Amino acid sequence: MSGTTEHEAFAHQQGIDPYSCTGSSPTGRGEGTSRLPDSIRGDVAVDDPSISPRGRVSFEWIGARRLGVIPVLGGISADSHVTGTIRNPIRGWWQDFVGPGKPLDTDSTAVLGIDYLGAPGTIPDSDKGLDTITTADQARVLGQVLDKLGVDTIPAIIGSSYGGMVALAFAALFPDRVARILVIGAAHRSHPMATALRDIQRSILELGAGSGREKDCVALARALAMTTYRSSREFEDRFGLVSGEHVGSQGFPVTRYLESRGRKFAQDFDAQAFSRLSRSIDLHQVDPADITVPVDIVSIDSDAVVPPWLVEELVSLCRGPARLHKITSRYGHDAFLKEKVALGRIVRSFAEDLAANGRHGAGEGTAATGAVRAGVTADPVFRAVMPPIYLSANYGFEQMGRCGAYDYSRTANPTRDLLAGTIADLERGEAACVTSSGMSAVLAVLQLLKPGATLVAPHDCYGGTRRLFDSLAKSRDIQVTYHDMSDAARLTAAAGARPQMMWIETPSNPLLRITDLALAGRLTRDTDTILVVDNTFMSPVLQNPILFGADIVVHSTTKFLNGHSDVVGGVVVARDKSVGEEIAWWCNCLGVTGAPFDSFLTLRGVRTLHARIAVHQENAAQVVSCLSEHPEVRALHYPGLPDHAGHEIARRQQRGFGSLISLELDRDRHDVAAFVESLRHFTLAESLGGVESLVCHPATMTHASMDQAARTEAGISDSLVRLSVGIEDPADLVADLVSALDGLGGGSERR
Ligand code: PLP
Repeated sequence: MSGTTEHEAFAHQQGIDPYSCTGSSPTGRGEGTSRLPDSIRGDVAVDDPSISPRGRVSFEWIGARRLGVIPVLGGISADSHVTGTIRNPIRGWWQDFVGPGKPLDTDSTAVLGIDYLGAPGTIPDSDKGLDTITTADQARVLGQVLDKLGVDTIPAIIGSSYGGMVALAFAALFPDRVARILVIGAAHRSHPMATALRDIQRSILELGAGSGREKDCVALARALAMTTYRSSREFEDRFGLVSGEHVGSQGFPVTRYLESRGRKFAQDFDAQAFSRLSRSIDLHQVDPADITVPVDIVSIDSDAVVPPWLVEELVSLCRGPARLHKITSRYGHDAFLKEKVALGRIVRSFAEDLAANGRHGAGEGTAATGAVRAGVTADPVFRAVMPPIYLSANYGFEQMGRCGAYDYSRTANPTRDLLAGTIADLERGEAACVTSSGMSAVLAVLQLLKPGATLVAPHDCYGGTRRLFDSLAKSRDIQVTYHDMSDAARLTAAAGARPQMMWIETPSNPLLRITDLALAGRLTRDTDTILVVDNTFMSPVLQNPILFGADIVVHSTTKFLNGHSDVVGGVVVARDKSVGEEIAWWCNCLGVTGAPFDSFLTLRGVRTLHARIAVHQENAAQVVSCLSEHPEVRALHYPGLPDHAGHEIARRQQRGFGSLISLELDRDRHDVAAFVESLRHFTLAESLGGVESLVCHPATMTHASMDQAARTEAGISDSLVRLSVGIEDPADLVADLVSALDGLGGGSERR
């Protein structure tokens, strides 16, 4: 190899020594170098004061660097060498899963392996007495390695066995640094039987201490551990009485096997390291309520160390979206090393999912970049920087019976498809259908309801949506019930009735109540209930319900997505392609697809969505701060306020608190009218989410179609006012509100 490789340059930049060896395996056990990835390695001094033993751990960075790096962590005996590389071709501990063309393909993804703190050679003798290492410590060590490499956030961690525990600990400690985790054969805690068996192993090590037979004891303890790693079925298949040789002069075949594996382990692992890491498994404790990032978790039916019931407990308790993958294996806990096909499929699809999200994520920039650049320079004819509008209603056929990609614009249209694909990416869905209004998006989704179906909906959903639900309930064989979905008990009870569809709006309109999306996702997962979330108030910039288990997301694009109050439109995003196809069929059938010119304008709006939302939110914060101090304001509803009932859930599931605020005045309807009419920079108008600030009186405007009883139940009083804070100069907005409130005549003295 001549010159400096990309890896060497990177290593140099980070102050890391690349491997000096190149070419074939020093031991001859390598795989050959033709299909091996490149790598760099280095080490990091562990000097985090919160970790009691200090030390030094090695890491290895394998594969391409362009898509972000994924730490891959294994069992307690795994180390930083995940797979064979050009610089170190010796087989790694996860060789079958990681490498070019393998389930975790190093041609497109960089992989990071690390040593565990406490493993042999990582702790100086002076610190060996400080034995208590936890999985949280290992997570902090990983954080330090990432710091050293200049990596702030990672797209995922893949952790199996002990590595799965470390991945969970990392997600709980640093939810802002990792987007998702894949956990294989690990849970949030140990169970007593497994702890007991590890305790016996540690007792064996203790008995050996100072006896001169430490290595024998390590071998014996490891042999006992190995019986827990496999299933009785697998031992039967390998060591059962097939040959009639039940016991020979050297003992039972199974005993000989365990002895040899134990002795091999004892060559590399000393008793202290074994004991330390084994103990850290028993100390492992992650509160699933702290797991807010999406988790994919693999349970193995024959695993006695981490039994499926414990994994299911974790799945049911995770705060964020958790998806369970069950695999059947005779290998017990060791399936994480052995099940190349079943597990390989899960790892591959997890990696493909990451890459798909990375299309507008790590690979080609963030979601904001994806939104700005949708369709840019995609014009094959003139290389127009901005994609052209296809207004044509119809398209010529190539020949009789054969049309091109498009035939008729109600069915499909290139401009509309570009918008649909862009919003599907932003919402992390597989497919989207752009409709002529938010209400037609709602209508299209309701076509999935079968006769006799039940629909549960929020008692404070958008008035127009409720009007449609009620009219369907009257004219069709569909039952609708309304619930306060922000109340976890009522949400649980509503889901317990197994409705065909559950409709959620969070934050709700106009009181901005928050519904726990992760709870809704958990309650409807693996049931026939279709979970639909109207995400209009948040936009995909601030919330992605599909990540929490929603099947369908609906938007009125009239609001934030278009953002300029000059288009009425909607969109339905489906998590699964098949549901997306069904919705698209209905949109074509009903004739509710969006117009090309509207789609063009909306896409233009989407390009500035992230920038607009940032300003909307900054302005909203200033407005909230001024209103919270004004004596005329009896109640202020904004999820960003710490005393808002849904504040904590909003913090978990939203990336910001948005720019809708509602307030109640201590005044009658006449004064409320005087207030809204005297505002100069807030226009009294329906709608929300545009660049211009708006004020609305829900009781007489957006929610006028609800009868008085329904409004009272939903908490929509006559003194309630909703503000949609725009992107004007916040000083003007604040001054306008203060002057209108002061003008009510209650005195201008401020609290
Ligand atoms: N969903 C919500 C939350 C809304 O606020 C609205 C309209 O205000 C709609 C749906 C209906 O959208 P459109 O007016 O675009 O039909």
